Amino acid sequence: MNIVILSRNANLYSTNRLLEEGEKRGHQVEIIDPLKCDIIIEQEKPTIFYKDRYLDYVDAIIPRIGASITFYGCAVVRQFEMMNVFTIVTSDAIQRSRDKLRSLQRLSKAGIGMPKTVFTNYSRDVEEVIDHVGGVPVIIKLLEGTQGLGVVLAETKNAAESVLEAFNGLEARVIVQEFIDEAKGADLRALIVDGQVVGAMKRQGKEGEFRSNLHRGGSANVIKLSEPELKLAIQSARALKLPVCGVDMLQSSRGPLILEVNSTPGLEGIEAATGKNIAKNIITYIERNRH
Ligand code: ADP
Repeated sequence: MNIVILSRNANLYSTNRLLEEGEKRGHQVEIIDPLKCDIIIEQEKPTIFYKDRYLDYVDAIIPRIGASITFYGCAVVRQFEMMNVFTIVTSDAIQRSRDKLRSLQRLSKAGIGMPKTVFTNYSRDVEEVIDHVGGVPVIIKLLEGTQGLGVVLAETKNAAESVLEAFNGLEARVIVQEFIDEAKGADLRALIVDGQVVGAMKRQGKEGEFRSNLHRGGSANVIKLSEPELKLAIQSARALKLPVCGVDMLQSSRGPLILEVNSTPGLEGIEAATGKNIAKNIITYIERNRH
């Protein structure tokens, strides 16, 4: 098979692992920067031009679209879809997953447990917003932040007010969320391939940090998920139509709660923590599903 990994950086761990496992299984694998692709739209014959050639021989793509290039990256993925090329995640699903509010709305409709969340256009009445999520402390999150940047813990009403004012001044859209104290600065990441959990880890923030992101200095350990956690992870992936994704959850006193679903999950942390060959799982998923 001709497999293309859409990635801006050929040196990234995940990109390299997918290349390596794809080649090991006898495929031709290429890493292509989506930003260097020209999308050619004309009647009946959608094509993509890259460097000096047309990408008309591709059987499957693995999108690794970073948050900063969502628009263009998704346009390239969509073009491959128009050319009937198999993709492990669709452009629509990637786009949807990039918007925390849009994703939470879908997940809530699917009956999935989540921290109580409020989205307000202009929070004049901060007290009311805070009451909606059960009082301080609250979490305030930028709608399009990643890697823990733009996630703030406001311990008092005054702090919440200032943070909301600051974000409003910058015209940044935010959600206000109930703070799950019982999570104790940890979260769970389940890696989903083909709609199933293929590996899971618990990430713990460094001392004094409520955010458990590995990019913020957190550490990860392999964990066996409970039945409700497995169920929540699988249902969330299904609700967002992401057969391959990373599902982040918080452990709370009322059971697991969804945090977010990542359509381009990193493989380094999860492969290191679990010792599992997740890259190979992704390649065999393509082999089973691309017809
Ligand atoms: P990002 O997409 O930037 O990683 P997240 O929503 O995943 O943003 O939040 C980053 C981290 O902050 C999470 O991994 C979790 O540890 C912590 N966190 C986020 N929301 C809450 C919450 N409502 N209650 C407690 N901790 C939270």
